[in-house]
Order: sequence, then structure tokens, then C-alpha cells
Amino acid sequence: MDWELRTCARRGHVTYRPDEPELAARLTAVTPAGPSWRCLRCGDFVPGAPKLTGPAQDAPLLLRGRALRDATVLRLLAAERFVRALLMVLIGDAILRFRRSEGQVQQPSICAI
Ligand SMILES: [Zn+2]
Repeated sequence: MDWELRTCARRGHVTYRPDEPELAARLTAVTPAGPSWRCLRCGDFVPGAPKLTGPAQDAPLLLRGRALRDATVLRLLAAERFVRALLMVLIGDAILRFRRSEGQVQQPSICAI
């Protein structure tokens, strides 16, 4: 699975035009659709103006490859743990409510005897 393309499909491409002309020349290409800028995440050329500009040192740091896959898996595990914790809290609450209601049911029967 190509995690970079999957993430770009969900969040959009990240194109950046550095202020340094030699770096900007490496990240752009002229296509029939007009000038295109290379996505910093997936590496595809995207037609249109870059989304971000500035010095190269301020370019966004994006997760790619194995780091991106690991971050996605960790998010899924965190969501699974959250759902599991929520279920445990709900089950615990249901058990406490059942114990209280069970005690209320038994008390009147003791008084009746
Ligand atoms: Zn992309």
C-alpha cells in the first residue's frame, strides 16, 4: 500500500515553493496544464500554484514511507484502545447499576418476611 498517496488523497498534496531559485527549479516542471509543483509527501507533480512558499528551512516536515505507515498504525491502535476503554467503562457502569437494582429488589422481600 502506498501510504503517501493514501494520505495525499485524504489531506491533499503539499506543494512548496522555496525562495532559493535553484531549489525551486528542482521542485517545478512545465507541463501542458501549466507549471506544476512537486508534492513534498508523495512526489507527484501537481498543476497549479504551490500551496506554501518561503525559505527552504521553513518547509513543512512531512512523514513519508515507513514513518507515515507507523504513525497511521499507531493512530488506529490508539482509536482501538479508546473504544475498548469506553466499552469497559460502560460495562462497569452497567454492572454497578445492576448491583444497586438487585439490592433494591431484595430489600422489600426481606421486609415482607
Ligand atoms: Zn502528494
